[in-house]
Amino acid sequence: MIIACASCGEKLGDRTPHATCPKCDGLLNITPASPPARGEALQKLFDTRASNHAMCGTPIQQSGVWRFRELVLPTDDASIVSHPEGNTPLLQRGVVSHYAGIDSLRMKHEGHNPTGSFKDRGMTVALTQARRCGATAIACASTGNTSSSLASYAAHAGIPALVMVPVGRISMGKLAQTVAYGARTLLVRGDFDDCLRLVRESAQSLGVYLGNSLNPFRIEGQKTIIFELLQQCGWNPPDWIALPAGNLGNTSAFGKALREAHELGLISKIPRLLSVQASGAAPFAHSFAEDFANRHKVRAETIATAIRIGDPASWDRGVAAIRFTNGVVAAVSDGAIMEAKSVIDASGVGCEPASAASVAGVKALIARGVIKSGESVVTILTGHVLKDPEKMLVSDTNSPHLHPNPPIEIDANLSAVERVLKSAAN
Ligand SMILES: *Cc1c(COP(=O)(O)O)cnc(C)c1O
Ligand SMILES: [Zn+2]
Repeated sequence: MIIACASCGEKLGDRTPHATCPKCDGLLNITPASPPARGEALQKLFDTRASNHAMCGTPIQQSGVWRFRELVLPTDDASIVSHPEGNTPLLQRGVVSHYAGIDSLRMKHEGHNPTGSFKDRGMTVALTQARRCGATAIACASTGNTSSSLASYAAHAGIPALVMVPVGRISMGKLAQTVAYGARTLLVRGDFDDCLRLVRESAQSLGVYLGNSLNPFRIEGQKTIIFELLQQCGWNPPDWIALPAGNLGNTSAFGKALREAHELGLISKIPRLLSVQASGAAPFAHSFAEDFANRHKVRAETIATAIRIGDPASWDRGVAAIRFTNGVVAAVSDGAIMEAKSVIDASGVGCEPASAASVAGVKALIARGVIKSGESVVTILTGHVLKDPEKMLVSDTNSPHLHPNPPIEIDANLSAVERVLKSAAN
């Protein structure tokens, strides 16, 4: 494994306590060592592990991250901090495909991870590296899911956690979870971008380990969303993979995973990435529209708090991912996000608002003719339906796709129940 700065080329040891370049503060890039096999033999190694350890075995054997350990972080078992995580389902619901306007839309539901979002896939690796480098504390800035995940994995590792979130701009579900897992939680008077600046300064001057997705080990773990998805497709990739994009950690991880899977002969065709932003937080989409000529920053505003980010940290890696996959970046309105969420929720699948941006983006691109209705698409549902309960009981537009379903208060007798059943049948 080689860890090197993408800006100045500085090389670091594999137990480095630095999550960004100590010389120039640039992003670090990890090149995994060559695995023991390639192509079909490597597929077989991963497939055998998946079928042997689906339910039994140690947490590490069961993990959908550490199943791919040669491509993630080769290390001794004793260092690994795993719940386990991963092994998320690939779902298909006719109503959602129909809504998007496509024959086959599959949804990989990362909300099925232990703390309810894909962040666990990166966090198991970040906390493992924190242990390997002897970190005495770990910190992150967060819109909520990173902090929940970091708090949980830090508790598991026995490493104190410090979390910075924008005051008043994080959902109650995520805040409650972070506090419950025991992280020291700071409500910062500012937005996410202020929190990230503060946590980077703390990492530099106070010596705490940085847990944000700037940390290259987070990216290595998040690659396994793609490896596992390819495995679930029998190593036969879809035409498109759509995901919501905020700080661009996941977009970067997906690009890196597809590049490595292709180089190792795990796949022969490269799916196109569709990164979807909320239109009130779309600096990456604006830049894509001008072929990435300029880097943009905005004051972010959207109902989808997990992607309410105005100055994405993994910008250069994100650009590389879109270029490598011949990808597309789109922006969708909050109304379109909530409408898609309503359809996903009413199908029984459910997800948090940011996740629904991926489906809204697919629908928009089909309408524009960029995605053809016969193409195969997998969208990533990044977070669980319970993450953002405040948004569930409100509806402020009158789209025919919204399914307002207010609870009904009744007297405690059978005829009241009967009246409700009758009106539901009509
Ligand atoms: C973190 C997160 C995102 C955004 O991912 P980035 O890596 O920041 O682009 C999207 N959805 C959910 C639910 C998240 O928690
Ligand atoms: Zn550097």
